[in-house]
Amino acid sequence: MEIKHQDISIQLMLEATPIALVLINEEEKIIYINSFAENLFFYKKIELKGQALEALLPDIHRVKPPEFWKNYFINPTAFRLGADDDLTAVTKTGRIFPVEVRMNPIDTGEMMYILVAITDISERIKSNEQFRLIVESALNAMILTDSTGKIAMINKQTEVLFGYERNELVGQKIEILVPHRMRQHHPEHRKNFYAHPKARPMGAGRDLYGVRKDGTEIPVEIGLNPIQKDGEQYVLASVIDITERKKSEEAIKKYTRQIEEKNKELEEFTNVASHDLREPLNSIISLTELLMHSKSDQLDEEGKKMLDYISKSSTRMSEMIIGLLEYARMGKSKELTRVNLDELVKTVLIDLESSINSSNSKIYVDTLPEIMAYAMEMRLLFQNLISNAIKYRNPDIAPEIAVSARQVKKGWEFVVTDNGIGIPENQKENIFNLFHRLHARNKYEGTGIGLAHCRKIAELHNGKIWVESEIGKGSSFYFFIPLLLQ
Ligand code: ADP
Repeated sequence: MEIKHQDISIQLMLEATPIALVLINEEEKIIYINSFAENLFFYKKIELKGQALEALLPDIHRVKPPEFWKNYFINPTAFRLGADDDLTAVTKTGRIFPVEVRMNPIDTGEMMYILVAITDISERIKSNEQFRLIVESALNAMILTDSTGKIAMINKQTEVLFGYERNELVGQKIEILVPHRMRQHHPEHRKNFYAHPKARPMGAGRDLYGVRKDGTEIPVEIGLNPIQKDGEQYVLASVIDITERKKSEEAIKKYTRQIEEKNKELEEFTNVASHDLREPLNSIISLTELLMHSKSDQLDEEGKKMLDYISKSSTRMSEMIIGLLEYARMGKSKELTRVNLDELVKTVLIDLESSINSSNSKIYVDTLPEIMAYAMEMRLLFQNLISNAIKYRNPDIAPEIAVSARQVKKGWEFVVTDNGIGIPENQKENIFNLFHRLHARNKYEGTGIGLAHCRKIAELHNGKIWVESEIGKGSSFYFFIPLLLQ
């Protein structure tokens, strides 16, 4: 037989193809295998010539019975037997492995052949199995869908979350899990995703819901990941049930609303109460003064003492009411500004000059930073702490007070230290409570509002205040102010 150039080059091409190729005739007998097939099956060409295809694909008749082949040649078309057909191949040495087979009919005009392309898919099956295990072991519901939106795989968590059995979902459109009211637009969203596939959360800014088999809806968060598998494009969706998170968000919102309402009520109450209380109190104060000036000659010593007591008590009560009102109003409609604390403390010391001088106090102020803060409140904070440090001094030692600051993680920590009388261990928290005092008024003047103010100011800045102290040795009042943005 004359060998043409064309035949040689086709033969060379078949030999060089990195796919196992087997040519069979109408009787399903092998007439040729290429080198790749020789290597895959450990047969020499000559050994297989004339053998049935079953020598290589022992279950081929299970998948496609002999009757199929009889009819096949009447109208042959290309077809594929894939992993789903569970088709295996066997080598001369007896190794059995899973394969994918493509049948391509070749009509020479005189004869009919089929070119059988056999691919070893054991690696693919192994990696598919690994993929399946990873998906199965995920803590979230994982759903794999193909490019038409058909569910190809789900894990156990999906069954738990949506209340379906696995076989009820696989093969269905993903829309089965989308609530009716959102179903209509879903295929469009799906197509858009496939047009630009990249890992991203689904429905940015929208509240997403899934629907369970029993029809109940669940709020969910969904992450989408495009995946190439077996040469096809899939999407792996990871679904998280956020019912609990939603519930706690709602609860927080509810409590915040309740607190806001309570605060408002309290503020109104404080305003009304202090206004109503101050009026009769002012009358008492003015009448007492009037009595003291115009009628004092009609009173004996005891009476004058009583009047003096009434006057002092009512003035004190008035101060307390004003303090209370200031406390309630503190931080209302204030603006954060850049505050130079060096400057601010200087002005505080000027205001306190007379008590500093009369007490012989020495005050050391370190370099203080410029921070974002509420200026007026900051001033009040330093003023209260420094004036307390002077007020609660040791009777036998001249007061020495140090003010300093150090930068800490996420903010500044300030400290006002004195060598005063100190604070008992069990009072270190209480002293910051409103009207809480540790001494009789005749020993130290005061209303018990100053430190309550200080705590409120620190908290207004999202910071905190605390004290370290030793009786008879002195106290250090610390406060932390976080870095605040305007
Ligand atoms: P007031 O000074 O008007 O009593 P404060 O709220 O400023 O009210 O202080 C509460 C209490 O804490 C004071 O009565 C005092 O007993 C105690 N205290 C505050 N500062 C100091 C200090 N530097 N040293 C010792 N005790 C202090």
